[in-house]
Amino acid sequence: MKPTSPPEQVFFGHPVSPGIGIGPLFEATEPDLVIAHRKISASETTAETARLEEALTRSRNQLAKLKARLAGLPEHSQTEIAPLIDAYLHMLGASRLMRGIRARVQEGLLGAEAAVQDEVETQAQAILALTGSDRAGRLRRAEEVREIGRRILRNLTRQPFRSFSNLAPGSILAAAELRPADAALIQPSNFAGIITEEGGADGHTAVMLRALGLPAILGATGALAAAAPGTLAIVDGGAGIITLNPTPNSLAAAKAKLGDITRTSRALARLQRLPAETRDHVAIDLQANLELPFELPMIAQSGAHGIGLLRSEFIFMNREALPDEDTQTDIYRNIVDAMDGDPVTIRVLDWGSDKEVEALSAYLPPTEEPNPALGLRGIRLLLRHPSLLETQLAAILRAGAAGPVRIMLPMVSLQAELLATREILDRVWKRLKRRGTRLPDAKPPLGIMVETPAAALAARQLARHADFFAIGTNDLTMYTLAADRSLPVGSKLYDPLEPAILKLIHMTAEAASDAQIPVSLCGELAAREQATPLLLGLGIRQLSMHGNAIPRVKHTIRATTLAHCKTLAANALNAPTADAVRDIIRNATDEGRL
Ligand code: PEP
Ligand code: MG
Repeated sequence: MKPTSPPEQVFFGHPVSPGIGIGPLFEATEPDLVIAHRKISASETTAETARLEEALTRSRNQLAKLKARLAGLPEHSQTEIAPLIDAYLHMLGASRLMRGIRARVQEGLLGAEAAVQDEVETQAQAILALTGSDRAGRLRRAEEVREIGRRILRNLTRQPFRSFSNLAPGSILAAAELRPADAALIQPSNFAGIITEEGGADGHTAVMLRALGLPAILGATGALAAAAPGTLAIVDGGAGIITLNPTPNSLAAAKAKLGDITRTSRALARLQRLPAETRDHVAIDLQANLELPFELPMIAQSGAHGIGLLRSEFIFMNREALPDEDTQTDIYRNIVDAMDGDPVTIRVLDWGSDKEVEALSAYLPPTEEPNPALGLRGIRLLLRHPSLLETQLAAILRAGAAGPVRIMLPMVSLQAELLATREILDRVWKRLKRRGTRLPDAKPPLGIMVETPAAALAARQLARHADFFAIGTNDLTMYTLAADRSLPVGSKLYDPLEPAILKLIHMTAEAASDAQIPVSLCGELAAREQATPLLLGLGIRQLSMHGNAIPRVKHTIRATTLAHCKTLAANALNAPTADAVRDIIRNATDEGRL
């Protein structure tokens, strides 16, 4: 009798990195750590400290080796992973963690393993206990501390790390959990895809898997328990679907989709040097959003014309001390140099609310605000601490001597905020001139984010004082609909395609056009190519987005005409709901008119 093949089973998880992977499952397991929690006598501290130091040196060497191995990865992968390894190396240096561990051995008379375990847990718990709404960020930081603790413990106890050595090339890696350091060990050419049972779409592991370009799904609950090693699986990383024991039909469909994806990405890569221009020759300026300087090489490859939004707050994060004027000048200048004459729009610190900056915690209000998103954030907070603002403006002005920069203010809701900042900018400019500092020939443009309903509604008045606008649809949607931007997509409360938001975008674009100042859109909506024709129709001619999205958006621009975009926008502005707007977009595309 012919053996029956096992039935096809389908599982769902977070779609973390797009693409289709087909291959046998390889299950990576890691032996549990066995730790002795022991006390030592005062006479043993020297020997125990030496044992600890040896494990620390070994850990540092391993990470340094790992960093050297990154050279074999694609450039954008290296630039994503290297900073995380640097963060681990930093923790192994002169950090609070190391001081705490040593004190527990030398003063607390604990064995090295117990000292590491206790100090790591104390610091992880302290991070988790911090207040504020960036829970995901706290979880991630606590996990990084625990991760470095596990490495030191494995080196103290000489217990092995997870190994991916005995797997068949082209396997799908399946693990209960994958840590960022594990992800850094992965050679993309050995794997067809990755699935894990734990982990969310926002973690560092997710960032790295995207950087490695492997189809990946995290948080795929139940998939591992259902599969034996070697089970054939399809990973659809864009849809978040895992198919175990696929039927011949499913397999054929997956292979066809894989072919489509390969053809599309080849075609998009060819667009890099072509202009972003509609079929009726309207030029659209595509710029990149930048969080950290290590993304720069990827941006250079994306075909972006400048940086439309540098979120400078990320430069202030993960540091014990504030970067001073010289340090900031160097960072901004390097970015300006790298953009080679294309403008760099530097947004001054947007912190407060969910953007926590440890080094700035002393500047926050002493008691927690009842509703931080509606309290001191962005320019409101900066104007309460003018010395911070002055330092940052001085650094931007100095960097501006190397190439074109623009200065942008976050969270503006009142004209007074813009006027007060302009006064400070003038003061800093004069001071630097007096000092004989090298500056640009003219003061850089000073513009504002339009990301509160108040700013959009007062756009005409603000346009008299602002040199440019950048519409931040993430916050504009949140504040207009009174719905948190981190709500899941399915919640239906937060939706930038609501006609109310489209009206505010349209009003802002018209006000800018009448006042003859540039206006761009730099929220996540800018990266959604389905919305591109609508945004052009609403009057937007400049879009700033994550570098990866630029080829797709450019492709859409080159396939449409402004006349069609305007009809689409007029219909969308009159639509009753976001779903109706989506239907209008879909129908226009289906009819091939856009
Ligand atoms: C926005 O609010 O749309 C925006 C671009 O700013 P951020 O996402 O940094 O708040
Ligand atoms: Mg914002």
